Amino acid sequence: MKACKYFGNHDVRLVDTEVPRPESGELLVKVLATGICGTDLHISTHGDWIGKPARPGVTMGHEFVGDVVEIGPDVQFLQKYPQVSSEISVGSRICAEPHLPCGSCWWCIRGQGNICSGIGHLGVTRDGSFAEYITVSADRCSLVPEEITNHEAAGIEPLACAVRAVHRSRMEIGDTVLVIGAGPMGQDVAKVAALSGASLVIISEPHPYRRKLAADYGFSHVLDPQETDVVGQVMELTRGIGADVAFEVAGLSETVNQAISAVRQGGRLVQVGVPTGAVTVDLRRLVIGEIELIGEHATHWDFGTAIDLIRTGRVDVTSVITHTLPLEQVLEGMELAKSSMEAVKVVLEA
Ligand SMILES: [Zn+2]
Ligand SMILES: [Zn+2]
Repeated sequence: MKACKYFGNHDVRLVDTEVPRPESGELLVKVLATGICGTDLHISTHGDWIGKPARPGVTMGHEFVGDVVEIGPDVQFLQKYPQVSSEISVGSRICAEPHLPCGSCWWCIRGQGNICSGIGHLGVTRDGSFAEYITVSADRCSLVPEEITNHEAAGIEPLACAVRAVHRSRMEIGDTVLVIGAGPMGQDVAKVAALSGASLVIISEPHPYRRKLAADYGFSHVLDPQETDVVGQVMELTRGIGADVAFEVAGLSETVNQAISAVRQGGRLVQVGVPTGAVTVDLRRLVIGEIELIGEHATHWDFGTAIDLIRTGRVDVTSVITHTLPLEQVLEGMELAKSSMEAVKVVLEA
């Protein structure tokens, strides 16, 4: 089969490789659709995911949907979510939680697998989804309901991360929300925040096409930070108080500071964007204003919610899919996603 592998920084190749065999507790899955994520692009040039080195020779990719073609030995299907059936068999369409908790560390024992100290990840430490087939531990998988298309299903994982971010914010109905960065993740966060009862969602995004996608989705306050003083606008829209909750989804020093300035005293900033290096911030406003800075990583039992939001049509994850390519054009897809701000979400289809 064809698989897109990371061999080193700026050395990603499409190669022929053996179809993997499912080991104990695993499923063999034929990939139907897989999304290219900013994380994949980062790995291809920097070779790491949250500081963990990608294994040379690893198959990349982690946002996917596929058909189960074989069930390995000793597989147990867990009823993880009330919204999603656990009845997985050969022929079932599944998606998978791509982070791989060790299951035995201090955090895993307490059910916090997303911050496991020995966490692994599909497409980083273990072969991922930019291939015709993938093996994945059955306990990471969820059945994809019939109503969800393959295109939509490729967006389950990023939406689950957005659900996690909004959970972490502890936002309440009526809150004013600022989202900085309208890439696929920022737009998903904005959608979930709006659904969660935000009275106002303000989005800041420098690129016009990304702003247009957000506006087309129905967001009324989409700001161009190159033209507008974002903090000033947030203050004006909130009568000088500031946003109850800010989500920083760009991961830049400048926008982290902007978020801290725009959030109200006593408010919360959820850091979703992962900066590529250290960020300098003036902590005085956090201290004196009792502003909470909250980290957010991956997903924590959020797949059921994400699947249900898509299934019921409450979130349209396809609004950011700008390009669809055949799986064998994965290298072109990654290049496109890297080079064009108008390639917001590129999905590869088998
Ligand atoms: Zn991703
Ligand atoms: Zn662990």
